[in-house]
Amino acid sequence: MMNRFKGKEIQALLTKEQIEKRVKELGAEITHAYRDIKDPLILVGVLKGSVLFMADLCRAIDMPIELEFMGVSSYGEATKSSGAVQITLDLTRPIENRHVLFVEDIVDTGLTAKYLYGNMRTREPASLRLCSLLEKPSKSKGEVKVDFLGFTIPDEFVIGYGLDLAGVYRNLPYVGVLGSDV
Ligand code: 5GP
Repeated sequence: MMNRFKGKEIQALLTKEQIEKRVKELGAEITHAYRDIKDPLILVGVLKGSVLFMADLCRAIDMPIELEFMGVSSYGEATKSSGAVQITLDLTRPIENRHVLFVEDIVDTGLTAKYLYGNMRTREPASLRLCSLLEKPSKSKGEVKVDFLGFTIPDEFVIGYGLDLAGVYRNLPYVGVLGSDV
């Protein structure tokens, strides 16, 4: 039931096993990178796409953390980032002098991350870094650097493991692309 959309087959680009393995590695990298901090690390997930990744990643991090979420909606076409971002849900606490790690599902143009970075910097965290499950390398990312990256993928529209197709398919346990008609 879940393996096709409007007659097109959904093909796995990254399998459940590949994702599981890489998320564990990222968790270990993050644990190592923040080993000397005193207060718990604050993970900020960007809704809704990062929810599945966040749930797995935070359990792969072996140190105390706090969980926060931000809601953003970008204007314009659903499958294209326009760069204009609106915050629809904000953090519940101040982050001043705290170490903050953004958790994104995918960095495409980087405009969403750039906007969120600018917004967060005004709140004066001790440090601000970005972890993204996926990155499409083909576009210029401006000032945004992904500090902890899961996978570089081709410039195709992907769905599953949190990423949606017109609001659905976030619960696919793998990352897929729409293939040919079946
Ligand atoms: P950016 O601002 O980096 O161009 O885009 C980031 C947002 O666009 C992501 O958080 C995601 O919501 C959406 N996006 C970008 N590429 C894809 C894709 O291939 N599939 C899906 N489902 N969403 C995408």
